[in-house]
Amino acid sequence: MCSWKWEWRIKDGSYLAEFLLEKGYEVHGIVRRSSSFNTGRIEHLYKNPQAHIEGNMKLHYGDLTDSTCLVKIINEVKPSEIYNLGAQSHVKISFDLAEYTADVDGVGTLRLLDAIKTCGLINSVKFYQASTSELFGKVQEIPQKETTPFYPRSPYGAAKLYAYWIVVNFREAYNLFAVNGILFNHESPRRGANFVTRKISRSVAKIHLGQLDCFSLGNLDAKRDWGHARDYVEAMWLMLQTDEPEDFVIATGEVHSVREFVEKSFKHIGKTIVWEGKNENEVGRCKETGKIHVTVNHKYYRPTEVSSVMAWFSFLVLPWSLCCGSHAHHWQQWPPECVIAAWEQGAAGGCIPWGSCLARGLLLLHSDVSGQQPEMLSENTK
Ligand code: GDP
Repeated sequence: MCSWKWEWRIKDGSYLAEFLLEKGYEVHGIVRRSSSFNTGRIEHLYKNPQAHIEGNMKLHYGDLTDSTCLVKIINEVKPSEIYNLGAQSHVKISFDLAEYTADVDGVGTLRLLDAIKTCGLINSVKFYQASTSELFGKVQEIPQKETTPFYPRSPYGAAKLYAYWIVVNFREAYNLFAVNGILFNHESPRRGANFVTRKISRSVAKIHLGQLDCFSLGNLDAKRDWGHARDYVEAMWLMLQTDEPEDFVIATGEVHSVREFVEKSFKHIGKTIVWEGKNENEVGRCKETGKIHVTVNHKYYRPTEVSSVMAWFSFLVLPWSLCCGSHAHHWQQWPPECVIAAWEQGAAGGCIPWGSCLARGLLLLHSDVSGQQPEMLSENTK
């Protein structure tokens, strides 16, 4: 079987590649050229990681800003499934790189869809678009679901809004099997270091190891519905296994604040954080030692903020047995992977991944289109 995916959002890409390879897929990934190595998170997927000898995972140089290369690669690979995970995915950075973000995240999606059409694969390819909860932005209703009106609050959200609709348009105009996965935040030890969960967990680890005293954050009261990337890539695949293409919201149904994340992270190294002051003068002080470990810095605030996003109903019509079968088993017995990794990496001079401190498990809330109440698919453990 042939599949295809993008490596730009390499966190999801690496989990997805692992998942698909295990299923027996041949996986082709697109890598942007970079003067530094950017394939660290998929190194272990080479047949021979030392010599970079490829097995069932093959890499191609390419770029979502280059239509010609997209046509060339798609024509050569003739994939059966395409996962577009390519994006400039940092919301705050999108305010500084607004045009670039629009080009890659918005028009890049169009280039890819057009390449499928040019190669004559409209009737044979299934297409997954990494859409985002950032579409809900200034939320128009709580909780959010597939029918909630969009209101993006950043150049990133606006670019993804274009991508969302162009995918819908290709589905309706050309009958392409194309779906938008509206995924809420999903984190992991592989998440980029400048996202808040990793920034906090890495900083806390450094404090624990005596390498850092204090770090700064922005909006402590922002709330997110955080899930785990490993679970969410399975949801991506499931979306392409349905009979009819549809758009889906994937979330845990539970929100936590950045402040809470900080507190829980410090708990793991035996410190209690107490908050003093207000707004930009607020600090997080260690109750046991009296040291200030967290300050607030305006530079980490966004010009417009998504203060809270949370999904509730998911009009999820994925084959239920598939979803329940794999996830219920996996999540209910899920060992606290990140906690274990945290201590191992901490001991080795690494960092504490985010997952050591939040609710775990993916909670897919299901109601069918007839509007039944949601069912809990997996348990959340704190
Ligand atoms: P996002 O939801 O895709 O924007 O993911 P992030 O991890 O970048 O941000 C999540 C939330 O944390 C946002 O509401 C940010 O405003 C908030 N936040 C607070 N302090 C920071 C910080 O220092 N860095 C980042 N990246 N986010 C922060």
